[in-house]
Amino acid sequence: MTEQKKVQPLQAVKGMNDILPPDSARWEWLEGKMRSVLQRYGYQNVRTPIVEPTALFVRGIGEVTDIVEKEMYAFEDRADKHGQAEHLALRPEMTAGVVRAMIEHSFLRDSGRRLYYFGPMFRREKPQKGRYRQFHQMGVEALGFNGPDVDAEVILLGSRLLRELGLKDGEHVRLELNCLGAPEERRAHREALIAHLEAHKDLLDEDSQRRMYSNPLRVLDTKNPALQDMANAAPKLLDFLGEASLAHFNGVRAILDAAGIAYTINPRLVRGLDYYNLTVFEWVTDKLGSQGTVCGGGRYDGLIEQLGGKPTPAVGFGMGMERMLLLLEEVGVAPAAPVPDAYAVVPSAQGLPQVMVALEALRAAGVSVVLHPGQSSMKSQFKKADASGAAYALVFGEDELARGEVAIKPLRDASASQISRSLALVSEWAAELLPRNA
Ligand code: ATP
Ligand code: MG
Repeated sequence: MTEQKKVQPLQAVKGMNDILPPDSARWEWLEGKMRSVLQRYGYQNVRTPIVEPTALFVRGIGEVTDIVEKEMYAFEDRADKHGQAEHLALRPEMTAGVVRAMIEHSFLRDSGRRLYYFGPMFRREKPQKGRYRQFHQMGVEALGFNGPDVDAEVILLGSRLLRELGLKDGEHVRLELNCLGAPEERRAHREALIAHLEAHKDLLDEDSQRRMYSNPLRVLDTKNPALQDMANAAPKLLDFLGEASLAHFNGVRAILDAAGIAYTINPRLVRGLDYYNLTVFEWVTDKLGSQGTVCGGGRYDGLIEQLGGKPTPAVGFGMGMERMLLLLEEVGVAPAAPVPDAYAVVPSAQGLPQVMVALEALRAAGVSVVLHPGQSSMKSQFKKADASGAAYALVFGEDELARGEVAIKPLRDASASQISRSLALVSEWAAELLPRNA
């Protein structure tokens, strides 16, 4: 043998995961459930690029946020022929990209838009359970509507989604709600809040000290256990709200109350992104440790104008797919593993053209059927058929083929017996292979 240097295999980037079978089937199941709900509310799919100009996120999310300060994958592209290089970033969230696209394509000119997306987001965080550097979100954005009806609608949509996934309100997830008011109200509150933070300056950690003046509201969002008492005692934004903000908040609450959606008001709920106003909400769970937020959102009426569009109200949420799947696993909600309807056992290569034509006819009729690849003993083929989970083995033996038939052997129902069917008339019996309650 010739000496060959062994090639070292490469590994995926830390915090970025491969999603492989059988796990990928759980993802598809989850996405399917979500699409079904989204469609019932009239939301339409959007897909925007993964890479955007860095400035979009700096302007949209805010400079003094975890995301922009420390988590963004930003880089300089190669220079073009004039020596100009673009500053680009992998999207850490998708709202800014959706808004950019709406402005760029004048999509908000005539009417509002109800949109949803699925996709990977990128944040350079410390990888741990429920926190990754590439993670996935499902999100909705309703643009062009003042609410509070549409605020309530996106919350109802989220709530229905969680319920249809088998998550129980109060037991597995809990809705928290707050109102961030309008910019003027936040300014008045800000002064009181800074005074409170100054009075507790010695207690504050490095992050909080730095944000105390640039973004004091975000200090209330701290996860530092030593700061919880201080944050709970801080002046509440709710006490600074004027009539219009309160009316909006009460409007949302009235709809949620009427619909029987339970929530707690959390005056400290501010969310990690700067663009929110009025309604903000999160679904939290105590089953995932400190990665307890499965879904977060709210109203962001200022963002469209901030990104260069005409002032347009908007509300939305983002749901973490990985956290949803972890939570579903934690509470024992498991989708049925997808199995084929039938498994084709083919003892000899000779009949293959005829066999594969028959399988095509089955698939055209909606039957899922897996071909046993290559030749091997009947025994091992039946073992594979059994392991596939299929309800039937289709046996294309030499005798059967000579008669122009296939033998259909039930694999799961011991009381059912084997039958034969004509290969020339597949469409007449294909339905017999489909699950009865499908
Ligand atoms: P957290 O406070 O847990 O960092 P966040 O406020 O940064 O969350 P958002 O920006 O609101 O999160 O994103 C919406 C949802 O996306 C979160 O509620 C969460 O379910 C999910 N998510 C956010 N960051 C990550 C991550 N690094 N890995 C996995 N899921 C994430
Ligand atoms: Mg975060």
